[in-house]
Amino acid sequence: MSLLNPPDRIDFSAPSADEVKTTTCYMCACRCGIKVHLKDSKVRWIEGNRDHPVNKGVLCAKGSAGIMQHNSPARLRKPLLRTGERGSGAFREIEWDEALKIATGWLADIRKTDPRKLAFFTGRDQSQALTGWWASAFGTPNYAAHGGFCSVNMAAAGLYSIGGSFWEFGEPDWDHARYFLMFGVAEDHASNPIKIGLGKLKGRGAKFVSVNPVRTGYSAIADEWIGVRPGTDGMLVLALVHELLRADKVDAEYLVRYTNSPWLVICAPGKADDGLFARDEKGRPLCWDKRTNAAGDALSAEVAPALAGTYTLPDGRTAVPSFQLLAERYLDPAYAPEKAAAITGVPAETIKRLAAELAEVALSETITLDIPWTDWAGRRHEKMIGRPVAMHAMRGISAHANGFHTCRAIHLLQTLLGTIDVPGGFRFKPPFPKPAPPAVKPAGKPGTIAPGQAMKGPPLGFPAGPEDLLVEADGRAARLDKAYSWEAPIAAHGLMHLVIRNAWAGDPYPIDTLFMYMANMSWNSAMNVGETLAMLTDKDASGAYKIPHIIYSDAYSSEMVSYADLVLPDTTYLERWDCISLLDRPISDADGPADAIRQPIVKPDRDVRPFQDVVLDLGARLSLPGMVNEDGSAKYPGGYSDYLVRHERAPGIGPLAGWRNTDGSGQGAGAPNPGQLDRYIENGCFWHHELTPDQRYFKHANQSYLAFAKSVGFIGSTDPIILQLYVEPLQKFRLAARGHGAIQPPDALRPRVEKFFDPLPIWYPPFEHESAEAYPVSALTQRPMAMYHSWGSQNAWLRQIHGANRLYVGRRLAERDGIADDDWVWIESRLGRVKAQVRLMDGVNPDTVWTWNAIGKRSGAWNLKPDAPESERGFLLNHLIGDVLEDGSPNADPVTGQAAWYDLRVRLAKADGPPRSEPRLPTLPRPPGNDAPPDVLRNGARFKGRA
Ligand code: SF4
Repeated sequence: MSLLNPPDRIDFSAPSADEVKTTTCYMCACRCGIKVHLKDSKVRWIEGNRDHPVNKGVLCAKGSAGIMQHNSPARLRKPLLRTGERGSGAFREIEWDEALKIATGWLADIRKTDPRKLAFFTGRDQSQALTGWWASAFGTPNYAAHGGFCSVNMAAAGLYSIGGSFWEFGEPDWDHARYFLMFGVAEDHASNPIKIGLGKLKGRGAKFVSVNPVRTGYSAIADEWIGVRPGTDGMLVLALVHELLRADKVDAEYLVRYTNSPWLVICAPGKADDGLFARDEKGRPLCWDKRTNAAGDALSAEVAPALAGTYTLPDGRTAVPSFQLLAERYLDPAYAPEKAAAITGVPAETIKRLAAELAEVALSETITLDIPWTDWAGRRHEKMIGRPVAMHAMRGISAHANGFHTCRAIHLLQTLLGTIDVPGGFRFKPPFPKPAPPAVKPAGKPGTIAPGQAMKGPPLGFPAGPEDLLVEADGRAARLDKAYSWEAPIAAHGLMHLVIRNAWAGDPYPIDTLFMYMANMSWNSAMNVGETLAMLTDKDASGAYKIPHIIYSDAYSSEMVSYADLVLPDTTYLERWDCISLLDRPISDADGPADAIRQPIVKPDRDVRPFQDVVLDLGARLSLPGMVNEDGSAKYPGGYSDYLVRHERAPGIGPLAGWRNTDGSGQGAGAPNPGQLDRYIENGCFWHHELTPDQRYFKHANQSYLAFAKSVGFIGSTDPIILQLYVEPLQKFRLAARGHGAIQPPDALRPRVEKFFDPLPIWYPPFEHESAEAYPVSALTQRPMAMYHSWGSQNAWLRQIHGANRLYVGRRLAERDGIADDDWVWIESRLGRVKAQVRLMDGVNPDTVWTWNAIGKRSGAWNLKPDAPESERGFLLNHLIGDVLEDGSPNADPVTGQAAWYDLRVRLAKADGPPRSEPRLPTLPRPPGNDAPPDVLRNGARFKGRA
């Protein structure tokens, strides 16, 4: 055979598909645009959409393996009703009509008696604009999505500090940054966009420094890896701040123009106004105007504010610029590099060098874009001047009990260097920035919840002081998860990780129905798996389950399915409409707002329904306001796609921002357009609005951008958004703890609120680290690039990359404990022990061990074979992580309630016995209707007639 004359049977030009449809990937949270190639109406392959703003054609291993997510033998096939004991996995298949009647019956009873008895919590879904609205209409405050155990620390710290945050709300200026500092990023979440960005940075020769206890993924290609001790990043950052202040290397002009650094803080120890901003009679903050040598309006463009000094206000009170407090705080030797080195494990010389490098690039290597722009006060600037230091942080920072303040510290560092929304720095993604904190308040105060009534606002929001908390008169929590109580005042995403415990304990009150979506709360999303399973199955003296009803919706037979009473099977992401909305978690980039849809690519071959359709159907059956017409008929009989087009959250504002008005002329706002979804499909299933060049930086103070943002409803006014280095709302909580105001914490919580509600960032050791002697090693999970949570680790193609997980141990630590490569060890925490096999490595902090997240599966779950490697050799650290601390308080950040997954402390001991992981739980049976999994799952062969 000659290569020049291949045999006739090879047709190099044969079409691989007879149809190509665009949609949005859902194999991780990046939401890349994809093209799905169909042959005989079956998915043949998936490629990246080159026109899409998120991935520009790039597709990762997860994205291409979406085919096997769609073909998974774990897909549920029909609604299920429990027939045996909870947890046994005994179900019978039922019709949808029966399933919806059962759910409606339970929910209707609750709504007409006490709507709080419904706890509605969703997992990694991205329909929160719908589900939050549904919960409000139902009338329950007990709603949240999974952010409370993911990254609320990052989101809340950003939104209270700069009116935006990392990841979905902002991004580095990949095109101009010359120095990039990254902290603790989950590589499955922040995937293609970061890979593309890092490629740009490295192509330009920018320096990339990664701060992470583990050198995998992005850290492996960093120019410098800082293997910090887990939970100590905040101290490292504040030592960098110390060095910058000591060397007088901060951008004072930026601080004066764009931040609250000059705002005067009242110094009145013991008084009710101590630590609050001095304000005029209109409530506007004051500064000290150097031109008049008197207090002046800090929001005026005409003042020349002082950043330091002590001043006497016209009423005789003493006040200082907040920057003065800041400088005094961090110039203290407690933040010196030598102190930080002992805590972080990063040498003092390294900290000093990093600070010098940051200062040099930010302040001496400024970049200039020849783009004139006009600031909020009407002042024209001929150029955009940038400081090319960019930073990014994610879950590794967030999931610690000190994560809120650590994220605040990073924003402080960025702001001192003048790098927020400037060329080369961190850039906001519209609809951000918003006023810090955003104006939305959580609804659900005691006395406002009534049978048969909707709530008067959304369940989630941003308290600006004690008056916004959801607490009873005696200080007890009003929500089941205790979000917005004194235990977690700024729980902006709720506390999903405490829902099962509190529902089981009836604390603060019993509930009737736990309704969950896509949240594997009996396995890899549970802290303390064993106790969680016991709580899900516990009964009272009468033999009734302590959590009376559990409704669960999922596309796959995850471990949680067996613990539900009623299972509502969802579709895969290729079988339904979806919306990635500006009202929720959009796909915007810094150059403009964007949103996207998913369209049904193939029809389900099972008796399943999209969860969003089911939610709207239940809403209509329950006659929830907004979901029925006056005659009681369903308002959105066409389901979610009908809702996407016709629903208006405010006049002209709907779930989708593109092609509004009947002629498609509306961008951002406008009347509903019946042809809107067709326009999205014509455009590759996304909408992207390009900001004009003069709107793309300084968005917080850019007249043209602010006017645009107001016109499309992103913000309520064109006032500048002031970056809040000193967060006054935190001081308001602290004053309450000191005995001021009408709403005060219970006595037991006063010291905690006093300590942690500091208006300037602080660092404190994670609470679990207090057991340092008995358990001297930190244990972490890292997120593999090739998998997204438990979804990915049951995928036939991705399982070939990570079929089982090892415990990765540094060689020095292993030598100390007498552990060799391939040994089996017990990982012991205060809760118990887990058996795992070891892999030795070099690139890990010497006091840290780690493993990949969510690879370990319970035997039989996800329709894997009972002896699959995921259950034989895979393991979860979750068994060892407490949802509560030894004193019974939440294992969480005391400000936001963020679950402190990464504070786990362990010790290692060599294990004997059979070489398989432990604990071993009974094998779960396959749900009825699911066939046994094949030995080999193929996709391509069937298109060649070799199925
Ligand atoms: S990065 Fe995420 S959204 Fe993009 S292709 Fe990969 S899995 Fe899909």
